[in-house]
Amino acid sequence: MKKNLKRVLGVILVILGFLALITPFSPGSWLLLIGLEILGLRILLEDRLRLFLKDRHKNAFRSLKQRFGKVLRGKCSAAKNREMNSKLKTKNSKQRKWNSLILHFAFCILHFLGGCIYTDEPVPRIVHSSTISEPKLVQPSVVKPTQPIESIDKSIPGDWLPLSRLEKKWTAIVIHHSATENGNAAIFDRWHREGKDWGGVGYDFVIGNGTDSGDGQVEVTFRWRQQQTGAHCKTPDNWANESAVGICLVGNFNNALPTARQMQSLARLIGFLQNRYEISKSRVYGHNSTPGARITDCPGKRFPMDQLKSMLAF
Ligand SMILES: [Zn+2]
Repeated sequence: MKKNLKRVLGVILVILGFLALITPFSPGSWLLLIGLEILGLRILLEDRLRLFLKDRHKNAFRSLKQRFGKVLRGKCSAAKNREMNSKLKTKNSKQRKWNSLILHFAFCILHFLGGCIYTDEPVPRIVHSSTISEPKLVQPSVVKPTQPIESIDKSIPGDWLPLSRLEKKWTAIVIHHSATENGNAAIFDRWHREGKDWGGVGYDFVIGNGTDSGDGQVEVTFRWRQQQTGAHCKTPDNWANESAVGICLVGNFNNALPTARQMQSLARLIGFLQNRYEISKSRVYGHNSTPGARITDCPGKRFPMDQLKSMLAF
């Protein structure tokens, strides 16, 4: 009964090994399964194989042939088995131990190799420390600013930059004078709010002359901060108030000239607006030269427009 069980196990192993061998596995798995095949054959053939390998017993090869043929034909009779078993028992027990030991060792090597190679991953390589290069420092990628470079120029006052969610696309610049000796954004805001009902100062920027604000100081009004339509240059279609930035210089330039600092601040402010909104100097107007504007002296008969244009880059 025990022998029959071993024989069934051997047949199963042989069949499994054969099936595995004809499937497209890696060479490593083939080696493992060759081992399986041999193990199955070994169980089937048992001591005959050992005797055959040793080749010291004349009867061993005959016995192997008989046993192998009968296993295949399924005609191994019980009587013959008993006869062969009795013969085998007479063999030298010491020799059998050695044979068994060698065979077991060989199978262990086969299984070990098969198990080692049986993998789809490459065999890990030993990397010598001398071949490991120093880790390279990866430079962080530079994120390009989405706004023009002027917007991050530290020399540009922060309040010149409108909130991006409010910012409009301005297309022109209109220059005014206050036609007064003094003033500032707050004063003009009060005048325009109370006297003219314009809802507050009509300009986007006011450049002081040193009287009520600093000489050349640029004040930013709520019109600019909120990107509102101006109230500084009336035209039939109101294009200037809607699309042009209104800048007022404190002073009456029918009588006097703007201060040097006012001109410098004006040129700097206009330069910023030109760059940000791509406004050429041909779209920088005095109030009196604005297309569609009513006749006026503003920004004063002595306002040096040519000098201003010469101070602009484009
Ligand atoms: Zn004006």
